[in-house]
Amino acid sequence: MNVLVINCGSSSLKFQLINAESEEVLAKGICERIGIDGRLTYQPEGGEKEISEKAMPTHTEAIQFVIEALTNPKTGVVKSLDEIGAVGHRVVHGGEKFASSVVITEEVKKAIEECNDLAPLHNPANLIGITACEKLMPNTPMAAVFDTAFHQTMPEKAYMYGLPYVYYENYKIRRYGFHGTSHSFVSKRAAEVMEKPYEDLKTIVCHLGNGSSVTAVMNGKSVDTSMGMTPLEGLVMGTRSGNIDPAIMEFIAEKENLDIAGVMDVLNKKSGVFGISGELSSDFRDLTNAMNSGDKKAKIAMDVFSYNVAKYIGAYAAVMNGVDDIVFTAGIGENDDYVREQVCSYLGYLGVDFDKEINTGLRGKQAEISKPGSKVRVFVIPTNEELAIARETLALVK
Ligand code: AMP
Repeated sequence: MNVLVINCGSSSLKFQLINAESEEVLAKGICERIGIDGRLTYQPEGGEKEISEKAMPTHTEAIQFVIEALTNPKTGVVKSLDEIGAVGHRVVHGGEKFASSVVITEEVKKAIEECNDLAPLHNPANLIGITACEKLMPNTPMAAVFDTAFHQTMPEKAYMYGLPYVYYENYKIRRYGFHGTSHSFVSKRAAEVMEKPYEDLKTIVCHLGNGSSVTAVMNGKSVDTSMGMTPLEGLVMGTRSGNIDPAIMEFIAEKENLDIAGVMDVLNKKSGVFGISGELSSDFRDLTNAMNSGDKKAKIAMDVFSYNVAKYIGAYAAVMNGVDDIVFTAGIGENDDYVREQVCSYLGYLGVDFDKEINTGLRGKQAEISKPGSKVRVFVIPTNEELAIARETLALVK
């Protein structure tokens, strides 16, 4: 069965058509600038990338263009819509309602809408994508795969904030965690590589990308994760601050004459390694180049980032009373050998015997970067959220 995987943002829509049995990607692409003007990038497997400007006033037109591209007699990869058996939608926030992926129904859509409050930038866009697909493919089953679902196994002691309990009761203020699809995918893959039962392992996954989070996976379940009610908590990220003293918010507001929205904008868009590096870049390739040319702030940014990842690993090894394996994934985790080396330089006490030679220059490939016999094994495992969504969707609609 071919599964169309949709990741819908407020003005963009990423898609992949995946043969869910062979797990082959048939085509992929992105619609950008929806509601502004509109641009479709489409690439069939083994074919040329095509970029075309198309008017996309809403997500419905964007999906219409995606379908036309996929079924185009020349460059398409299927003959008709009938060859798309299901659609898998990435949905960012499932609140406490969704502990796993679900087939989309009217009730499910309502429940997703009820979580809009918790992810005001993401969930409404995800719902728009779902509605647009339903309009154009009314008979195709659809599934929702939530970023938060994998973390619903966290115990209370991990998800409760030190805030008045009524805020949890009234507003559901608690930690939820994100990147769940990725943390689940790579931790399972690590168990396969180790040839150990997933249920027997203590794994720490470092999903280090533009947004970054670390998760403790014990006996196949997420028991703690660094992101919170929103993806702003936890690690220092590309442009997000991660954890700070909450009192800094009022302090900045007064000093810079900002309102709450202004302060939030600073914490979300002007902080992280971008902010530390003096607004040089949020991209670790730029930071590495700058650091290698002697830029002091770029080096501080890289070091703060790695130090924070190491701190979470230490914390999660403590709460799980040990760790069997550590996995690096996502853009930085898969590609940045300096960050991996820096992080692992703190982990000797845990029993990590780091293999610098294998690590150096390793980009985007699965590999073990600890030495044979290392008490804690360390891996680089490329994540594949689209494939994970296709797998979940197939399992649900079959
Ligand atoms: P993601 O959010 O997982 O797509 O990760 C995107 C981030 O990965 C970029 O902003 C870069 O910081 C980082 N990245 C991608 N490629 C490389 C690379 N070759 N070396 C270092 N960092 C990279």
